[in-house]
Amino acid sequence: MRAAGVVLNLVLTVVATGAVTTVFGFRPLLVTKRITTTTTTQLMAVTSQSTMATDKNNNNSISNADHVLFDVPVSNNGARCRIILYKKGISSDRVDIVSPAALGGLRSEEYMKFSPLGLMPCLSIQKSDNPHGISSLAESDTIARYLLSEYSAEGPSFLPDHPRSNQICRWHDVYLQSIQGCLYKPASRLPIGDFPDRKGAIAAYRRNLEVIEGFLGEDGVGGAGSSVAYLCGEEVSLADATLFPSAVFASYMLPKFDEDTTSPRPPLPPKLTRWFDDLRTNDEVFSRVYREIMDTLVKSWEETNHRWDGIWLAGLRDTAPATIFDRIISGEIPAEIVRQDEHILAFRDINPMAPAHILVIPKDRNGLTALRRATAEHTDILGRLLVAAGEIASDKTLGFGDGARIVINDGPDGGQEVNHLHVHVLGGRKLGNTFC
Ligand code: 5GP
Repeated sequence: MRAAGVVLNLVLTVVATGAVTTVFGFRPLLVTKRITTTTTTQLMAVTSQSTMATDKNNNNSISNADHVLFDVPVSNNGARCRIILYKKGISSDRVDIVSPAALGGLRSEEYMKFSPLGLMPCLSIQKSDNPHGISSLAESDTIARYLLSEYSAEGPSFLPDHPRSNQICRWHDVYLQSIQGCLYKPASRLPIGDFPDRKGAIAAYRRNLEVIEGFLGEDGVGGAGSSVAYLCGEEVSLADATLFPSAVFASYMLPKFDEDTTSPRPPLPPKLTRWFDDLRTNDEVFSRVYREIMDTLVKSWEETNHRWDGIWLAGLRDTAPATIFDRIISGEIPAEIVRQDEHILAFRDINPMAPAHILVIPKDRNGLTALRRATAEHTDILGRLLVAAGEIASDKTLGFGDGARIVINDGPDGGQEVNHLHVHVLGGRKLGNTFC
């Protein structure tokens, strides 16, 4: 469901610019010609006219097809549904693929009638023979399984009951997809899932890819008689359709975040790499979806919107020279360490300005040469530094009494000498009232 975030900005941008056909490349239905030339306001007007068109069920619909899949090419979760439709050869009078922009965008009242949280994809069911009486579905796995059942007589079955396929689909949706935002969300939208910072989420994302790799077993992907290596053997499964779009995204994005840019780690583990390369090269439908996703990623997100320029590691990196504190962290030069954990290191200042004088620093500087470089990406470590400073200031065994002064010098005017954020914790006597 988080993939809705992936596409939201794009949709809003597209709606704002009116550049619908260029970016989406999808059939925008009854409103095709008008959408390509309209402004946002006009688009909304056109939309409300078109939604008044009556379909077979008398729904407010922009299409007379049996179903409308609201989706755009870059949408990760929608892509699994498109793979199913393309593989089964479902024509547009049965499932029409339409951009939510045709209804005014993801947050429009019209669209939210179909998808209550304004997420993508969603499916409007408007065929007259509708035994379940459900007029829309707004969750990708549910939509995918509905399509498999609805069109079970056509094309591949996608093995809807295969336990390996089901496990991969579920793992993808619950654990991998839910943190995929670490690859594209700006700092202002952190934290991601249970992870307070981007690096933690990216590490967990990679771990979950490894878990999925483990589900493939010793024999790996494909089957003896298979020309393409699908995840469950010789036949394409829902797992292929579910995981492939994320694999496209991960393969493109993960290297951007690699800390060692000179020799980036492969984005996917070995068996998944083989599977991914095979599908995008040798399977016509997967190649098509690969191009759909990549075209938008590269042309719209990267080249036009410079989406990653302001994202930590993808566009912004810590290129400042190392300091003496790096050598203390690595143990190269000694220091009287009083406390440390995975994130912070605290040690006595070599030139104490008070009976107790401890420095608390982040082990990973991560761009924090000074506090003025702090962004929302650093919220977690900044909190940890202050919590540690408070605990140290309360520790009588370190020489502190009833209180302390906790100081951050910042930049030349602030008297900062070492370009690695550090918190001074000073105490052990009653300090004077002057700050400077
Ligand atoms: P700043 O002036 O940048 O706020 O503080 C830097 C602090 O680091 C100073 O108080 C200085 O005494 C301390 N410092 C610099 N080099 C070393 C070192 O090699 N070991 C230790 N323990 N402290 C150091």
